[in-house]
Amino acid sequence: MNSTIKRLGIMGGTFDPIHYGHLVTAEGARFTFGLDQVLFMPSGQPPHKKNARVTDPEHRYMMTVLATLTNPYFDVSRLEIDRGGTSYTIDTLRALHQLYGPATELYFITGADAIFDVASWKNADDCLALAHFVAATRPGFSLVDLPESTRQWVARHQERFHILKVPAMAISSTEIRERVREGSSIRYLVPEPVEHYIRRQRLYTQELPQSRASCAK
Ligand code: NAP
Repeated sequence: MNSTIKRLGIMGGTFDPIHYGHLVTAEGARFTFGLDQVLFMPSGQPPHKKNARVTDPEHRYMMTVLATLTNPYFDVSRLEIDRGGTSYTIDTLRALHQLYGPATELYFITGADAIFDVASWKNADDCLALAHFVAATRPGFSLVDLPESTRQWVARHQERFHILKVPAMAISSTEIRERVREGSSIRYLVPEPVEHYIRRQRLYTQELPQSRASCAK
């Protein structure tokens, strides 16, 4: 149990690959919510991508380590990768609650598109009981754009939802994969060591089917 950490941020994501949008989000969340540490949590098998191929978790883990090395407040967890199977957030939150103890407040941070779908996640109410949810939004996002049913659900749990506006979220992993495939530059979109890793390991040079299995949450 680590009792020195009063507020722990958990950066949940596929990180395929990690980019500056993720790093700016994590730093912004740390500052805004007074987090003592931000733990990056690369998914082993992302729940809603069961029928899609994502890059090997070990590559995604390595890139996340390389990207976060220089920030003393950042760390990377292998919890979801080592647990195996589908990486449900509820299992991660329960494990961290157990590990850090009830005095540590958990802040689960990820993209707004994912966060506002939480109602459909496994044990959604338990997730909200265990953690605050921080939705990182790309410029232009508004709650008004959400479907009515989602807005109502968010309103019912509003004390657990927080919106974090991050201009750098205009960067996307999808765009970076496409740029690599086309031979375009990804310089200044990802940290240099991540760029070198992608080139050395020849990641994203071939088309991967990224179809989303919307029913598999
Ligand atoms: P995704 O659908 O690939 O991403 C949705 C959007 O959020 C994308 O625009 C993505 O941009 C952005 N994003 C992803 N991670 C982010 C982060 N940490 N900070 C800021 N923006 C982020 O989502 P995903 O990566 O598969 O899932 C996000 C998290 O939600 C993961 O931890 C996943 O395990 C969890 N989740 C849990 C359940 C469940 O328990 N049932 C279901 C769905 C998701 P980029 O593509 O540029 O990253």
